[in-house]
Amino acid sequence: ALALSISACSAGRGGTADPGSSAGAGVNKGALVGIAMPTKVDQRWIQDGDNVKKYLQDAGYKTDLEYANNDIPTQGQQIEAMITKGAKVLIIASIDGGSLSQQLDDAKAAGIKVISYDRLLTGDANVDYYATFDNFKVGVLQANSLLTGLGYLDDSGAKTGKTGPWHIEIFAGSPTDNNATFFYNGAMSILKPLIADGTLVVTSGQTAFNQTAIQGWDPATAKKRMDDLLAKSYSTGSTKLDGILSPYDGLSDGIIAALESGGYKVGASTWPVITGQDAEVASVKQIIAGSQYSTIFKDTRNLAKQAVAMTEALLQDKKPEVNDTKSYDNGKKIVPTYLLPPLVVTVANYQKALIDSGYYTAADLK
Ligand code: BGC
Repeated sequence: ALALSISACSAGRGGTADPGSSAGAGVNKGALVGIAMPTKVDQRWIQDGDNVKKYLQDAGYKTDLEYANNDIPTQGQQIEAMITKGAKVLIIASIDGGSLSQQLDDAKAAGIKVISYDRLLTGDANVDYYATFDNFKVGVLQANSLLTGLGYLDDSGAKTGKTGPWHIEIFAGSPTDNNATFFYNGAMSILKPLIADGTLVVTSGQTAFNQTAIQGWDPATAKKRMDDLLAKSYSTGSTKLDGILSPYDGLSDGIIAALESGGYKVGASTWPVITGQDAEVASVKQIIAGSQYSTIFKDTRNLAKQAVAMTEALLQDKKPEVNDTKSYDNGKKIVPTYLLPPLVVTVANYQKALIDSGYYTAADLK
C-alpha cells in the first residue's frame, strides 16, 4: 500500500529516493513503463516485447507495449501517447533511430527517462542508457561462421589450410538502424583482408555498405537483390556461388527464396553457405534442414532482464549497471551501455543453445 500511494502521487523521481539505501526500493512501484517495439515481422521483437512486459509486471510495474508495424510515424505517435499517459520510463527499440528527436525532447521535458533497446537512438542527447548485444561482435561471428561453412576455418576457428578462392556475396541491414553498420563493420573486419588477398571473391563487386544494405530489413527487397545478383553474376554457370553473408534471418529467407526460384536445390553441392541472425524458429528449422548454415542467437530474455534492471534502477534513482562507456556515440553523447554476448548457432549446437537453455522446446523446432 505504501508503494502504491507513493507512485500514485506524481512526485517524480527527483529527490524522492535515497540512493544506496533500501528506502528507494518502493519508490515508483506501480509506475507506467512504455515499451516501443518496431514490428512483429521479425519474431525476435515479439519475444523481446513479451519478455520486457512480463519482467516489468512481475516487478510490479504497469506497462504499455506497442508495435509500430515498421512505420516510422506510427512509432512516433505511439511514443507521444506513452508520454501523455504518464510513463516514467520509455524503453524504445526504434525503427529509425534518428527520427525520434521530438519524442525524446518531449520525454525529457516531462522528466521521463529513456532506455535505448537493442538499437541505438541517435542524434539526440536525451537517451539515458542503452542495452544491447555486442553488435560488432555479431558481425565478426557471422563472418567467421561463413568462413567455417566455406571450409576456410574449422569448427574451432583455426585455418584448415584450404585456400579457396570462394565466391561470395554480401548483404547488410537497414541504413536506418545503427546496428546495421556495426554488423557490417564487424563482418568486414574479418572478410576485407581475405577479399584483398583473393581468398574471397565478391563476384558482383558490391562490397560497400550502401551497395549491400537492405532498406527496412525487408525480406522481399533481399530476394529482389539476390535475384539480380544471380542473373548478373552467376547466370553463365562458370562461377559457383559459394556463400552469402546475411545479417538477419529474414533477409536469409529472401535469399533462400531467390536461390530456389533460380533453380538451386537444398542439399546439392551447389547450395551456398548462408548466415543469419536472431535464431527465429523458421530459421532454426532451415538450419536443421540444411538450407541455412548458421544464425546468431541473441537471448532476448537476458536483454529484457537488463532493460528491466536499468528501468528499476532509474525509477529508484540508482545508477544502472553498464559495461561499455565508449562504443556507442549517438552523435550527441556517448550513451552508457550494457552489452550482452551473442552466440553462433549451427546444426552442431542448436540443441544445447536453444533447447537445453529453455529458449525453445524440441516441439517448437519440429
Ligand atoms: C537487431 C537484429 C535484427 C535486425 C532486424 C537489428 O537491429 O539487432 O537482431 O535481426 O534488427 O530486425
